[in-house]
Amino acid sequence: MKILFVSPEAVPFAKTGGLADAAGSLPKALKEIGHDIRVFIPGYKKIIGTQSPVATDVYQEKLPGSEVPFYFYEHEGYFGSREGLYQSKGVDYPDNLERFAAFCKAALLFLKEIKWRPDIIHCNDWQSALTLAYLRTIYKDDPFFRRTAAVYSIHNIGYLGLFPREKMLLTGLGPDQFTSDKLEFWGKIALTKAGIIYADAINTVSATYAKEIQTPEFGHGLDGLMRFRAADLYGIINGIDYSVWNPAVDHHIPRRYSPGTVTLKSKNKIELQKQNNLPQGAEIPVIAMITRLAPQKGFDILAGALDLILREGCQFILLGVGEPKYHDLMLRFMKKYPDQVSAHLKFDGMLAELIYAGADMFLMPSQYEPCGLGQLISFKYGTIPIVRKTGGLADTVHEFNPKTGAGEGFVFEEYTSRALYEAVRRAIDLFRTSAHWTALQKKVMQLDYSWDASAKKYVSLYMKALDKVIR
Ligand code: ADP
Repeated sequence: MKILFVSPEAVPFAKTGGLADAAGSLPKALKEIGHDIRVFIPGYKKIIGTQSPVATDVYQEKLPGSEVPFYFYEHEGYFGSREGLYQSKGVDYPDNLERFAAFCKAALLFLKEIKWRPDIIHCNDWQSALTLAYLRTIYKDDPFFRRTAAVYSIHNIGYLGLFPREKMLLTGLGPDQFTSDKLEFWGKIALTKAGIIYADAINTVSATYAKEIQTPEFGHGLDGLMRFRAADLYGIINGIDYSVWNPAVDHHIPRRYSPGTVTLKSKNKIELQKQNNLPQGAEIPVIAMITRLAPQKGFDILAGALDLILREGCQFILLGVGEPKYHDLMLRFMKKYPDQVSAHLKFDGMLAELIYAGADMFLMPSQYEPCGLGQLISFKYGTIPIVRKTGGLADTVHEFNPKTGAGEGFVFEEYTSRALYEAVRRAIDLFRTSAHWTALQKKVMQLDYSWDASAKKYVSLYMKALDKVIR
């Protein structure tokens, strides 16, 4: 199958969240099972430089360690000169609609220019959604795309791609597209609707999230539309790339280890404590979070639970950037508990690896979580997740039962500080009875969340989408 994967971010070129991880590793897995997959992303600052030109404004480079061609759309004003992907200092760029409309148009023009006709165009999140609207409006009768099916992945329905209605003209689409059954959403434009409406098949990144977004609680106003499209909606869990995330080969951590040598993990913990200026000791439970500082990630209930948690004598290490009010929150806790709390308010891939390797527990108290990668990476590093039962977290982590050995971590359901605190306490209790803890670590390190299985599911999804266009 020939697939063009269109994404606003992809590891290792540009990343703000989990979509980048998926875009950097799903294509690799699809290539390995024999598909001709190519990826189209914006050429942000720091990316453009070493690639070779392939078409008007498009440069190419192979994804490192693979044969997957990556195409970078070059536009100096929209992408090449910007420090951020979507925002600067926490504020969205005012011309995001223009930027990503240009990107989406370029994707289709590019295909025609290089005369490469994909079976599937697979778009991801609102930034690439207009591609599918153009495919099904402007290019509706173009024989070039007659047998091309449209697939849309929702990595987080909370990001609707909202813009004022006055910008409609700038999309290049007619006013007929600004209706409630198309792109209009409460008087504004919601770009993600272009993807949902025009895709032949839609997917989200876990089975539970696919169900959740059909409810008012999780649908962000699109639950009705998601129910309308339920027959074409699927949930495929993300995998992770074990050539990157693997403590046995990770060169960024002080001490490598595997399930058989999991006790060596404590060397990383001591180093982590040292680097954070925290008291060093293998017996002190270390709880970590690596996340965007967004309301979705559960900071409101964490704020009410952290004092109680710290009373248990643990340490808390956070790595993350996002909303200023959560930066302030973390700085306050750091000041109040200098021997227990350390917060790094930045994006730092290398430090993330040390934290995954050194922490005992990984906390994800998310309000909602489409898939969640943190818990999957934690598994591989023998770091036990403590999660709220929602979305992909509900699908991958179940409460550990010391009697039967079932379960992979600690789970709470109610979105309250109390429920969060109690789950942490259960984790700390088990940590202090170490025989069970080591057994649990070994078990989760051997779980398989590689992309192989999920890539095959994507292939069947593509087949379903193709069935709809090949008549
Ligand atoms: P989301 O996509 O909602 O941000 P995910 O759990 O799916 O959440 O993916 C987040 C990814 O980004 C993980 O790989 C996590 O380790 C990484 N990450 C988040 N914040 C940071 C940060 N400040 N520094 C380094 N890595 C981060």
